[in-house]
Amino acid sequence: MTKIGFIGLGTMGGPMAGNIVKGGYDVKGFDINPTLVKNHIKNNGIAANSAAEAAINSDILFTMLPNAEHVKSSLFEKNGAVENLKKGSIVIDMSTIHPFETDSIREKLKTHGISMIDCPIGRTSVEAKIGKSLLMVGGDKNDIETVKPVLELIGDTLKDCGGPGMGSRMKIVNNYMTTVLNVLSGEALTLARAIGLEQSTCIDVLSGTAAVKSHLTTTYPSKVLNNDVSPAFMIHLALKDLGIAVDLGEKVNAPLDLGKASVNTYQSSINEGRSNQDWTSVFLNLQNRAGLSLPEEIKE
Ligand code: NAD
Repeated sequence: MTKIGFIGLGTMGGPMAGNIVKGGYDVKGFDINPTLVKNHIKNNGIAANSAAEAAINSDILFTMLPNAEHVKSSLFEKNGAVENLKKGSIVIDMSTIHPFETDSIREKLKTHGISMIDCPIGRTSVEAKIGKSLLMVGGDKNDIETVKPVLELIGDTLKDCGGPGMGSRMKIVNNYMTTVLNVLSGEALTLARAIGLEQSTCIDVLSGTAAVKSHLTTTYPSKVLNNDVSPAFMIHLALKDLGIAVDLGEKVNAPLDLGKASVNTYQSSINEGRSNQDWTSVFLNLQNRAGLSLPEEIKE
């Protein structure tokens, strides 16, 4: 029977380790907080006194820690897991860390004959408790197949993100979008309130447009992702509307930080000759500025 080690029994790791125990596996858990190790015992898990001890006989070792420093110290420092991990075992790091750190941890583990899967988590501890997390998986196909039965105890949605390191990369893109959209949602509702709109009316109306339906599922697929920037709504008109909102915000003291930053992106697109293109062509402007190649044929 596959043996599991689990380092980091906090808000996310605790319930996840518990769900693997419920799935019938021996799970040796370690956390620097002894209370969390005691909770793991209450959940029928096995206690470890160090990361190294959690690794003894483990075929799969999970890490669910705050940041890359914690992952590196739990693996590579004194009493770290690598002291006892056997060749051929698989480390699954579910922490949200910088993807370049993921790459260097993978390389270091490889020198010890250990594979790594990066597997950060979408959704929150609410879903982690009931085994319904979304897993962004990055690793070799064979390794992913090996660990799949265990991952399925943690999540109900497994997304293979396309190879080693891609789970970690996907997670940062996801969190970039969700963290910024959080601020954008707050800015929009603050402006709405400051100019006298009812919040419920505002949410109701926004839910019927790309504001809530999202560009990625509405305007992008029909236009720029289809290599078509013939205008459904022109860039210069979008900038005109954004300008009105930013001006209104200034007049009623509603801070529109993201709105002001977005003016630059629209202006840069216009400077590039995209004034009469569809507003989704900001994506072409951004890719250009990133030095990425654009499709050869674009319908204007
Ligand atoms: P947490 O702080 O509740 O848990 C982290 C645990 O790691 C703590 O219990 C801490 O004592 C332990 N720890 C720290 N250093 C250690 C070490 N060297 N050895 C052993 N244990 C150590 O945090 P969390 O909410 O469980 O988040 C963990 C990771 O998951 C983070 O990278 C976070 O960004 C990510 N994440 C969190 C959520 C969420 O909703 N909470 C959702 C998705 C991803």
